Amino acid sequence: MSEQHTPMMQQYLRIKAQYPDTLLFYRMGDFYELFYDDAVKAARLLDITLTTRGSFAGTPIKMAGVPYNAADPYLAKLIKSGESVAICEQIGDVGLSKGPVDRAVTRVVTPGTLTESTLLDEKRDSILVAIHCVENTLGIACLNVAAGRFEIMETTVANLETELARIKPAELLLADNFELLTPLNCTQKRLPLWQFDHEDGTRNLCKQFGTHDLRGFGCAGYRPALGAAGALLKFAQLNLGTSLSHLGALHIHQEKQFVGLDAATRRNLEISETIRGDAVPTLFSLLDTCCTNMGSRFLNYSLHHPLQNLHEIQRRLNCVTSFLSRNNNGILAALRALLGQCVDVERINSRIALKTARPRDLSGLSTTLELLPQFYSLLSETNDFAVKELALSFTSQQKLAGLLKAAIRPEPSTLLREGNVIADGYDEALDELRAIQSNCGDYLIQFEIREKNRSGIPGLKVEYNRVHGFYIEVSHSQTTKIPSDYQRRQTLKNAERYITPELKEFEDKALSAQERALAQEKFLYEALLAELAPYVAPLKVIAAAIAELDMLSTFAERADTLNFKCPEFDDASAIDIRAGRHPVVEQQIKNFIANDTKLQSDERRMLLITGPNMGGKSTFMRQTALIALLAHCGSFVPAESAKLPLVDQIFTRTGAADDLAGGRSTFLVEMTETAYILHHATKRSLVLMDEIGRGTSTFDGLALAWAIARYLAQHSFCYTLFATHYFELTLLAQEFKQICNVHLDAIKHNDQIVFLHSVAEGPASQSYGLQVAKLAGIPNAIIDAAKKHLIELEKSKVDHLQQADLFSSKPLVKDPLGEKGLQ
Ligand code: ADP
Repeated sequence: MSEQHTPMMQQYLRIKAQYPDTLLFYRMGDFYELFYDDAVKAARLLDITLTTRGSFAGTPIKMAGVPYNAADPYLAKLIKSGESVAICEQIGDVGLSKGPVDRAVTRVVTPGTLTESTLLDEKRDSILVAIHCVENTLGIACLNVAAGRFEIMETTVANLETELARIKPAELLLADNFELLTPLNCTQKRLPLWQFDHEDGTRNLCKQFGTHDLRGFGCAGYRPALGAAGALLKFAQLNLGTSLSHLGALHIHQEKQFVGLDAATRRNLEISETIRGDAVPTLFSLLDTCCTNMGSRFLNYSLHHPLQNLHEIQRRLNCVTSFLSRNNNGILAALRALLGQCVDVERINSRIALKTARPRDLSGLSTTLELLPQFYSLLSETNDFAVKELALSFTSQQKLAGLLKAAIRPEPSTLLREGNVIADGYDEALDELRAIQSNCGDYLIQFEIREKNRSGIPGLKVEYNRVHGFYIEVSHSQTTKIPSDYQRRQTLKNAERYITPELKEFEDKALSAQERALAQEKFLYEALLAELAPYVAPLKVIAAAIAELDMLSTFAERADTLNFKCPEFDDASAIDIRAGRHPVVEQQIKNFIANDTKLQSDERRMLLITGPNMGGKSTFMRQTALIALLAHCGSFVPAESAKLPLVDQIFTRTGAADDLAGGRSTFLVEMTETAYILHHATKRSLVLMDEIGRGTSTFDGLALAWAIARYLAQHSFCYTLFATHYFELTLLAQEFKQICNVHLDAIKHNDQIVFLHSVAEGPASQSYGLQVAKLAGIPNAIIDAAKKHLIELEKSKVDHLQQADLFSSKPLVKDPLGEKGLQ
């Protein structure tokens, strides 16, 4: 560093050197300033002016800035573009120290450590994730700072993509020796490997939770996950600048608790994002009529985490049934009206723990807490056990509610520094200081009357402005009459402004009262936050209860509005859906045709679905998966009735998508996803295969599709819906009793094709490919040429197949996989 820099720039460069990859917001008066490359980048990303301040070695120093009291929208924009921002505040007293005022970074804002309501997406969780891999074991640690939830898991490296698709990190921390094979659309940070040491991690975690070891959390035997958790905790503590006292426990994510959904399945089922990456229309966007943001986030989480615990599913279904029951007349509307008045207790609670809660957080919390007794009585008055049980989490928090009500004004200022936050009557000293200020008005009126009389100037006015303070204003024509103790303060075009010793004394008292009142409010507010610390744990329970109640009441409301019915789980290992519908597609079109899905334990394990393009095959398959998924979330389902077994995983291989960014062709993606299914599907899995083999030459594709269908039917023995355009596959139904043919039909009407969209037994009679092409606007001449060529092709294919006898009902070669299947 050169001596030629000004002392302030030297300070800036010293601090910046500690945050090389982070934008530094350097506080200067009322602005956060950025310099050099930071300034250039911020000016581009934020569309703000790039200026200069001074120069160094003859080159002007680039600078850009944002006002400190309106920084949030700028921060939000930077975070959204994946940047992190170090906030460097003035911590010393301006003017007291020699040289530049002391400054220090108080917080680093990163995408995964947000807690501010202005920066967070209200409806989505923001998760910070750390990954550590030792040999084949993958340790994953997840922290939801804004909700105070900390979770770890261990799995195999092969499941990395699946897990990341489930968690959807906002920010990912990786050891510098670890490479992600598939690109991920989130901020990634590299940390040195030593930070992932599992013994250090364990020590750090014990310190965090105040425990001797981590056995109480069930972590005995975990290693890479604890390494990841340790690195993650240190990162979060450093960036937030606090101890994260709201993390009460370390949770373990058990894969078996939830229905497994791999990355492709989450994408294909369009749970919370369409295949194109839009937020609408999806299952979540259809169902999210939640009254609170906590409810929306929990719904989103639940749709991505369908349960495997039948007891828990049944409990949710019982609650939904009860909310809809006539016997509980009006409970749903009453609950939802109450929910609509609740603030985001979960996030406010985290801000309380981090001591960053704003005044309106506390006033909102106070109002919500007052609603708890109403929730309790509504829920406990029903006759249904499941709902009564919900009431238990809504026990009144009278003491806390009383404290908040007494301490905070009902409508406080947005920011503490603006004052008017602490309620009157809470603190005697503050009340006195406020009395001085509010008596000002009376005093000034009296003072003005007195001065008018004393001077004999009827037009004299006593006023105040922020720049000049208090003054007496007299028009020029009257200035000859002013008393001798008037001292000129300011001259205007038409008037003179004066001050008197008495007014000056009053001004000092009033202004210092205001300043002291603000200081006292700050002191009281900080003391209040400290007093709230013991309530963080009970508030977490309340937040979770509100979120769950909101989701369940939303399930009920949606079931009523969208005509969903309660699913039944039975042990018969059969899927029996009557008149099922695709919940999202049915909203988009006028006459949705409902269809049955029937799969039994051994007679009918796989449906081979044929029919023309656009016939409705994909829709039918996806609706079956969505019905199963919704049922496992404890929601009613779009069907007349639905009997289901407990499913362990749902797999979909549907639609062709090039993963160009990942350098994989359509066919390679298709085969990778299929391989994953073949390795993981069990007889309790639901598997959807759509048009497998399409991405390669006809005979390759056909042969692969044939072998895959046989394998799923024989070895995986999973519930399978297998849509194919290879008619040859329909012969498999003759070979295996567990394979059945169904088809979606179309009819020709005046040489036009009309899709019936209803599923019927047996194979399709024809593919209608040329009719669909015609529908799409392919010129008639081309259609005619294609028709001729088709006849020739079909003839030669029949000859060819007869020669190869590839698809005769008995395979010529013995199944090379035998009884063992894939290993
Ligand atoms: P396929 O997979 O056979 O090519 P899709 O499932 O993609 O066909 O369906 C094509 C279109 O047909 C859908 O976008 C939808 O508009 C309509 N469709 C599908 N299923 C139904 C149904 N059951 N009732 C009414 N329309 C449907």
